[in-house]
Amino acid sequence: MLAKFKNTILEIIFPIRCVGCRAEGEWFCGNCAAKIVANEKQFCPICWSENSGGRRCENCSSALDGLRVAASYRENPELARAITTLKYKFSKNLAQNLGSVLANSISQKNYSTERVVVPVPLHKKRRRWRGFNQSELLAQSVAAKLNLSLADALVRTKNTAQQAKLSRIERIENLADAFEIAPDFDAKNKTILLVDDVASTATTLIECAKILKKNGAREVWGLVLARG
Ligand SMILES: [Zn+2]
Ligand SMILES: [Zn+2]
Repeated sequence: MLAKFKNTILEIIFPIRCVGCRAEGEWFCGNCAAKIVANEKQFCPICWSENSGGRRCENCSSALDGLRVAASYRENPELARAITTLKYKFSKNLAQNLGSVLANSISQKNYSTERVVVPVPLHKKRRRWRGFNQSELLAQSVAAKLNLSLADALVRTKNTAQQAKLSRIERIENLADAFEIAPDFDAKNKTILLVDDVASTATTLIECAKILKKNGAREVWGLVLARG
């Protein structure tokens, strides 16, 4: 209550402005979202060698079949600000505009299997603390824009330390057994689009992919806004 009051006061003194063009009223406006330069190059999520669509290359093995990174910070400095804002401000509108950036980076060819959009989950304690999961908001937006079904297919069972502060080896150890399949989700023969805001290494996505594959998913792709 007090925090809400404080926010309202702050918004009167410092109105919400777009992190791109400074226009008042939105955190990241539709015009700026539409101007994001999409990545032409994609990379294997394991060895990061360049390839056309982001599919994992033949030399690498992983439960994760591929990764689409929508855009780069270098070409779109405002994207970093928009992603940071989404972490701390619950804003459906911001999530929707960033969801368009994600949806635009996916090819619309015909798929033979059912595709399901799945957010990378937060542990329930952290979700409660923050009040929302930004990946969930993004996944909702992507599913709506691409007309795909959405499922909370994964549960985070371990309240892991923040990945960003850890080395690669520590990240892998930190995430071991961190996820489980949701009891009511049937992954069999489905193609899963795992949505997260950013990926620095693909460690989190790979851990999620392992669980989904173990439960019968046919393909698992990651979909993120940028490499963090
Ligand atoms: Zn703008
Ligand atoms: Zn590779």
